[in-house]
Amino acid sequence: MKILKLAKKNLDLFVSVLPAFGEVYAPIKRGNSFVFDKPGLWSDVQMNYTRTILPPKKLLLPPCEATFTFDPNKGYQDLLNEASKPMVLFGVHAYDIYGLNILDRVFVQGKYPDPYYIARRRATTIIGVDFVPDDKHAAGSMNADFVDQGFDLFLSDIGDEYLVLVGTSRGDDIVVMSGCLLQTPTQDDFAEYKRRSKNRHESYKVQLDLEGLPEILEMEYHSKAWDDFGKRCLSCGSCSMVCPTCYCFDVKDEVDLGGRTGKRIRTWDSCLLRTHALVAGGENFREDRASRVKHRFYHKQRGFVAEYGRPSCVGCGRCVEVCPVDINIISVIETIRGERDGIASSAPASA
Ligand code: SF4
Ligand code: SF4
Repeated sequence: MKILKLAKKNLDLFVSVLPAFGEVYAPIKRGNSFVFDKPGLWSDVQMNYTRTILPPKKLLLPPCEATFTFDPNKGYQDLLNEASKPMVLFGVHAYDIYGLNILDRVFVQGKYPDPYYIARRRATTIIGVDFVPDDKHAAGSMNADFVDQGFDLFLSDIGDEYLVLVGTSRGDDIVVMSGCLLQTPTQDDFAEYKRRSKNRHESYKVQLDLEGLPEILEMEYHSKAWDDFGKRCLSCGSCSMVCPTCYCFDVKDEVDLGGRTGKRIRTWDSCLLRTHALVAGGENFREDRASRVKHRFYHKQRGFVAEYGRPSCVGCGRCVEVCPVDINIISVIETIRGERDGIASSAPASA
């Protein structure tokens, strides 16, 4: 992998080449939060943000999208062209790139490749930037605070400069277009990079123990703790909406009044919603909230491990921020491991 460096004072010049690679989205401030959006001015872009409300998933797997239209005169017409517009995601944290790599396993390398996701992923340039963990980030515990693939360029702060990892040939094209802005780093730059990486890794306030977690989840399948979580959960679905690795969606047809033409729409869904496991005839496989909360965490920390060899949580901390009743990856893991006082975790759940 090629490694270069960029002086911070030249960042404005460097980003001026990005529109040649597509419409640019970057973290900008909205109220007290951050969102990925098109920056009006480059000065709006936040290089030191904590986390965005929604992950970059929202741009590659939009919350609501039409996949094709149907018309008896024209037949089916897919909308893949819409999904193929070039886009640049600037300022993506490592855990969110890791989140996209996890979505790739499902939508690109999985049993049912998704042409819409694949078209967007191929048309998207990703430029990562490092971050300082806050009291909600668990990316260190989830091995997602560093990525070695899934980006075109990755910028790491080393003081007055960024160390720039070049991940792909497209990243190399950006380097070439940037002229002499990117330079060869020195051994001192590498030493500073290593020092800051170590400090960042050690600065995580959240330390989760994942050792043997799939087996512990197996043992705690009938734990009363799930009942306790189920009583508190509001079934709002916010935790999965903000999660970079939740990917369930619903599909429906919107038919015009004449009943002959229309379009197929898919929208984000959440396994926390009561209707998620409702099927024809009125049967609901996860009627109670406890079973829905349990399903979400078993999928992330057990089912995904069995299928893909790692949890699907990347420790972004969004579910910690958004859940109004403190059900999140930290509280659930600590409870199930018996590390939180006052909550029984081994007593059997009520029927
Ligand atoms: S489960 Fe929570 S912390 Fe983990 S990736 Fe999803 S939103 Fe982020
Ligand atoms: S766990 Fe929290 S965020 Fe998720 S559905 Fe329940 S109340 Fe909402």
